[in-house]
Amino acid sequence: MEEKKTVLIVEDEKSIADIIRINLEREGYASLTAYDGEAGLAMALEHNPDLILLDVMLPKLLGFDVCARLREKGSSVPVIILTAREEEEDKVRGLELGADDYITKPFSMRELMARVKANIRRTAMSQSGPAEGAMAAGGGLTINPENYQVCKHDKPVDLTQREYELLTFLASHPGKVYSRIDLMEQVWNYGYVGDDVRTVDVTVRRLREKIEDDPANPALILTRRGVGYYFAGQ
Ligand code: CA
Repeated sequence: MEEKKTVLIVEDEKSIADIIRINLEREGYASLTAYDGEAGLAMALEHNPDLILLDVMLPKLLGFDVCARLREKGSSVPVIILTAREEEEDKVRGLELGADDYITKPFSMRELMARVKANIRRTAMSQSGPAEGAMAAGGGLTINPENYQVCKHDKPVDLTQREYELLTFLASHPGKVYSRIDLMEQVWNYGYVGDDVRTVDVTVRRLREKIEDDPANPALILTRRGVGYYFAGQ
């Protein structure tokens, strides 16, 4: 039997944590729960879950800080931020700190489970992807799909899974322009995207900061104004 995927819930409101846990278990996931930010960070590092659902307003350590520290420690676990506020600023901040996705409270369990599934499926796919030799992507960048290692001028670059997948998707179709909606469907696996396309912009910005010599004047991931993004040919 396939091993169950484990989701870590970091949420201080016990009633919300409970209902999420019940729904996850009904969908066949194992779950872990932490009720504050410090405990959440410790559990994430100790148990290496397959996905983290991370509330923003938490005692001891804010969700944003939990996410930032996980990324500092090199964790690439998919993180979905649960934000109580509609504010664009909060969503963007979470994404800039390395979250993969966010969902605004109150959310339906159906929507949350769809997001969990999309993010975990994405991870599973990337781990069983085709193994090929390292590919030179230009600008001193190399991508090695065998070990998911990206190097810039021979120095390893730490990417989150989503950043890695966005990069490899664009780099494997150089010159082809993809709209943000295309990228949401192809890289994020979302059928319905609504206004979430901002996520693509923030992820592109994060990726540029990591792989471009001059992120303000990118040479690898380019913008086709009013259309979308594409990877420069060599
Ligand atoms: Ca809270």
